[in-house]
Amino acid sequence: MAKKQFKTESKRLLDLMVNSIYTHKDIFLRELISNASDAIDKLAYKALTDDKVGLNRGDFQIAIVPDRESRTLTISDNGIGMTAEELEKNLGTIARSGSLQFKKEMDEGKGEDVDIIGQFGVGFYSAFMVADQVTVLSRAYGEDAAYRWASTGADGYTIQEDSREAAGTDVILHIKPQGEGEDYDSYLDPQYLAALVKKHSDYIHYPIRMELEHTHLKPAPDPKPEDYKPEYETHRAWETLNSMVPLWNRPKKDVTAEEQNQFYKEKFGDWQDPLSCVQVSAEGAVNYKALLYIPAQAPYDFFTRDFQKGLQLYSSGVLIMDKCADLLPEHFRFVRGVVDSPDFSLNISREILQHDRQLKVIAGNLEKKIKSELERLLKDERERYLTFWKAFGPQLKYGVVSDFGQNKELLRDLLLFWSSKGEEMVTLAEYQARMPESQPFVYYVRAESRDKAAALPQTERILDAGYEVLYLTEDIDEFAIQVLERQGEKPFKAVSAPDALPETEQQKEEHQHRQEENQDLLDFCKTTLGERVHEVRLSRILKSAPVCMTTDGPMSFEMERYFEKVEGQAPMKAQRVLELNPDSDAFAALRRAKDEDEERAKDYVELLYAQACLAAGLELEDVAGYTKLVCSLMK
Ligand code: ADP
Repeated sequence: MAKKQFKTESKRLLDLMVNSIYTHKDIFLRELISNASDAIDKLAYKALTDDKVGLNRGDFQIAIVPDRESRTLTISDNGIGMTAEELEKNLGTIARSGSLQFKKEMDEGKGEDVDIIGQFGVGFYSAFMVADQVTVLSRAYGEDAAYRWASTGADGYTIQEDSREAAGTDVILHIKPQGEGEDYDSYLDPQYLAALVKKHSDYIHYPIRMELEHTHLKPAPDPKPEDYKPEYETHRAWETLNSMVPLWNRPKKDVTAEEQNQFYKEKFGDWQDPLSCVQVSAEGAVNYKALLYIPAQAPYDFFTRDFQKGLQLYSSGVLIMDKCADLLPEHFRFVRGVVDSPDFSLNISREILQHDRQLKVIAGNLEKKIKSELERLLKDERERYLTFWKAFGPQLKYGVVSDFGQNKELLRDLLLFWSSKGEEMVTLAEYQARMPESQPFVYYVRAESRDKAAALPQTERILDAGYEVLYLTEDIDEFAIQVLERQGEKPFKAVSAPDALPETEQQKEEHQHRQEENQDLLDFCKTTLGERVHEVRLSRILKSAPVCMTTDGPMSFEMERYFEKVEGQAPMKAQRVLELNPDSDAFAALRRAKDEDEERAKDYVELLYAQACLAAGLELEDVAGYTKLVCSLMK
């Protein structure tokens, strides 16, 4: 029979496993048991709604059979099984995201191989750390034929038809010979295996069973003969090795962080430890237990429509829904975890669940728990919070904006922004706490990046006054600020707003006077620029720069750009305002030119307009015209 080849990336992973010098080879058992448990979950789930499955919850089990003579260790389950195609697909390629990540790290040559193995589950292939040959005999539920997949490692695998009594899978490992310094015999020793199961797979919620041998002292005959010698007898019996108490049902103090993390990685296929885990146990009006995780990174599809939020919902340890969306509000959709409540019936339908009062109460409580955990991270573990923010920050800002802003107060204190003060992001409360008493507003400026924000001419006077400016660098920032309206008593204010810095009566009068004095010049500019600008005015905000471009009304340039990208959206234009600095030399030159030579003055207007556009990060409509103009002025 022809051997089939593994897909390249699988082959590399396999090579690594076969030649592994990893010291924690024990984990292979946990991986195979976890696969078996998943396979049973799938069939058990089917059995809830399909009588034909014919198995009750109590019938499911995972069996472990070590055999010293044949040097095999078999892990069997009566789960969903695999068809020939599934054997090919699932065991011939790297399936899980963790393994893919693993491969990526290998390609990037990051770290030692062995360290990477420890970071996350490596799935089925880990069997090759302890076995020189692996056979998988599987029969899929609903199929008559079974198939046997066999491989001795990287040289490929075979698949042939076989038979098996019922649906399920046997993974048969041919354990490697005992080698120098390498102890493989332990994997044939029932006591050792039993201890491993207890250690790594105790909470698997199906019985993991193995035949164990016990030696007893035979009862002595009565009366005891003179020459009585105690006699022993051994008997073998199948025993359940795991307590089956799910992790979330154990008292909090008995669960280690490592167990929590391992559970997370296995369950949700992440290869990185979560940033945080919250264990909840509620009794009273509603009874439930929950384990909530905040991941360290967003799944690749997190910001797409394909991503499905939700928590796994169990009823007394039985999975009833894989992703129960109603348990999580949109703004915390990144949270993963499980909720177990005895109050839900096993075959409750999605539609009924949606309107379930109990579910709503749980969801409300979990939302509070998540919020306070995030607050704790923000306060006590800033570094971690920053990692969280990098992955999911925009999600919270979307949360502020969506649903007509009804969650804005819930999320306000969790938001971070860049600002003119320093390298660290800042919360609004921190900004507020350090602002001078006299500061009238919370200032912000919108720009593509922090550097660009810092270079904008319109921030200069505000910064000079000793005020901090928030740098809104993301599209969503600006929308969020608009919805939030104010921080404490202080409204948000764009640095370019004409009233950004309060003026004395005298200053106001002076400005008014200058405006009137120069009205002819401003009108001239507006006529020259036509529809390109909404207004030309004397600036109150500029200090050293001669011009800047700002906007009137709620639309900013960044919003304009944002809406340009949104498909099907009619283009929305920001109202451009060209501001001239009456104290600048350029302004004086323009004034002179207007009085002496209007053609020249027109050129100056064009030049200042172009400069303002460039400083605001806007594209010039007529680049060729601009270059020509600059050159002509150099003559
Ligand atoms: P993962 O379990 O993370 O997906 P594995 O490499 O361990 O990655 O397994 C690949 C796939 O093979 C699984 O997703 C599952 O579909 C299938 N599989 C493995 N073991 C079993 C089993 N005992 N019964 C049914 N399917 C299995």
